[in-house]
Amino acid sequence: MKRAVIVHGGAWKIPKELQKPSRKGVKESARLAMKCLMNNGSALDAVELAVRYLEDNPHFDAGTGSVLNAEGEVELDAAIMEGKTLNAGAIAAVRNIKNPISLARSVMENSNYVLLVGRGANKFATHQGYEIFTSLKVRRETERWKRLHKEYKETMKFSEIGGTVGAVAIDATGNIAAATSTGGVPFKPPGRVGDSCLIGSGLYADNEVGGVSATGDGESIMKIALSKVVCEYLGKGLNAEKAAQESVKLLENRIDGRGGVIVIDKGGDIGLSYNTPKMACAYMKEGMDKPESQV
Ligand code: ASP
Repeated sequence: MKRAVIVHGGAWKIPKELQKPSRKGVKESARLAMKCLMNNGSALDAVELAVRYLEDNPHFDAGTGSVLNAEGEVELDAAIMEGKTLNAGAIAAVRNIKNPISLARSVMENSNYVLLVGRGANKFATHQGYEIFTSLKVRRETERWKRLHKEYKETMKFSEIGGTVGAVAIDATGNIAAATSTGGVPFKPPGRVGDSCLIGSGLYADNEVGGVSATGDGESIMKIALSKVVCEYLGKGLNAEKAAQESVKLLENRIDGRGGVIVIDKGGDIGLSYNTPKMACAYMKEGMDKPESQV
């Protein structure tokens, strides 16, 4: 099987000053993941690596650089899934963990559960030897929080926010994996959990059809289980590009939702679609010497 990876850095109205660093970030993430695949790394290793890189990049709303909730705190959601066994791991509303995607993988591999939240997830992290950081806040988000706090503005237009990250990969053995990680939406109430960590909504991977990572308005994505919808279209024989387009059409037509998806089908073909002003995205297929990107 020809190896391939696609990554995203959120579907939203990416402001001018963030376009260049977003493009650079998703390209580097795709390059690192492809290098891992070419060294015979698994699809799971590749998506974890791609997302870890973006979590550490402060330009994205995941890990370091995440948006702050109404109490001025970072609360993180993340999930990872692999398509051979349908094994999955997820964490939600977790605090002070630098790489929540790795914690999600630990839930998958070292617990009997799929989703751990809040205090329990943090406790699990400590047991697993994760370092608990004092803060993942960056100045840009602290300033935004001050602004929102002054206006006491709980809801923003979705197209103004974003920067969630995700990755989908297929390895040499045909295994597919997907991963998604986010700080969620600015000024969310504490305890709000979005789609990103919900299997079938923010991601899905099934070797029999393909893999998906979604981003956008979480409250809409959850209602139609967007990533599973993409997989259903793949199962009906649509290719990756068409399945991506049809799922975003459904998101818009059925509930007027906004967002985007990245897809790899079981044949290794890549697709993406979004109905927001922009989506940061990069992909690399075996045989390409550098990633293709768009913002
Ligand atoms: N879907 C994420 C959430 O609602 C946000 C995003 O993708 O930008 O938490």
